[in-house]
Amino acid sequence: MTTPLLQVENLKKYFEVPQGQLHAVDDVSFSINTGETLGVVGESGCGKSTLGRVVLHLLESTDGTIIYNGEDVTRVSASKLKNLRSKMQIIFQDPYSSLDPRMTIYQTISEPMLITKKLSREDIKKRVFELMDVVGLARRFVNAYPHELDGGRRQRIGIARALSLEPEFIVCDEPVSALDVSIQAQILNLLIDIQSEMGIAYIFITHDLSVVKHISNNIIVMYLGQIVEKVASEELFSKQIHPYTKALLSAVPVPVVDHNKERILLKGEISSPVNPKPGCRFAPRCDYARDACFAENPEFREILPEHFVKCHFAEEFV
Ligand code: SF4
Repeated sequence: MTTPLLQVENLKKYFEVPQGQLHAVDDVSFSINTGETLGVVGESGCGKSTLGRVVLHLLESTDGTIIYNGEDVTRVSASKLKNLRSKMQIIFQDPYSSLDPRMTIYQTISEPMLITKKLSREDIKKRVFELMDVVGLARRFVNAYPHELDGGRRQRIGIARALSLEPEFIVCDEPVSALDVSIQAQILNLLIDIQSEMGIAYIFITHDLSVVKHISNNIIVMYLGQIVEKVASEELFSKQIHPYTKALLSAVPVPVVDHNKERILLKGEISSPVNPKPGCRFAPRCDYARDACFAENPEFREILPEHFVKCHFAEEFV
């Protein structure tokens, strides 16, 4: 059996707020192999971006373990963490605000290499141009500033910068959400090409299920800080079990979804992630909720082979 590149176990991230404790990430476990992509899907506020930042240790976890290449990221020394960080990178949603407007493309892409001081200036220059070629950015833009480029090109700069230290793992946090649909496809294809060439593992975070199918090997669906369904990408699109995932999929305008199927509109209030009540967090919006759903937190169980669901009555929805 392959040892995963990243193994996350019972990860929690709670924030202290005036009303109590906000459970942004609550008992989340998953693993990713080298060169694979885990799609993380859910509405805004479900904790998916926080999860990405905690995995990279940009935010301190409250509890749980993050084993990266055999090392627990939550316990390593500062110097080791610095080394690990160069292997674990992030691409942000908004290429407009994630780039420093005062830095040229050259300065932006070369900065991480200058900080780590592992390459000579001449080698850095060579590498910047190589990276521009890899991400499909014409070399003539090397002295341009971000405001002189369109959104797609700006995201290509963000990707080149993330690749500059030869990472093994990248958290892609809604990397195409701020882009036009035609540009989205180009950036997705670029990420797929980079992965197949360099064997990089991705966590691909998105609120939009239609963009995640082709890039992901496995998908986790999050609701209020918890994983409610985890399965291979292909299977999720043909067989969703959790009522929340069914509602999300019913809204996806892609040909693989049965178009005769009616869109499921979620009613009811989203429960508060602050001091969450016992029971299923989806219960206030679930058409199938009954007494047990409000009383007990459902187990995360394997309902079909390698298909895990957090619902007391999952068997009824297969
Ligand atoms: Fe719905 Fe109950 Fe299942 Fe939660 S546990 S998803 S409320 S049926």
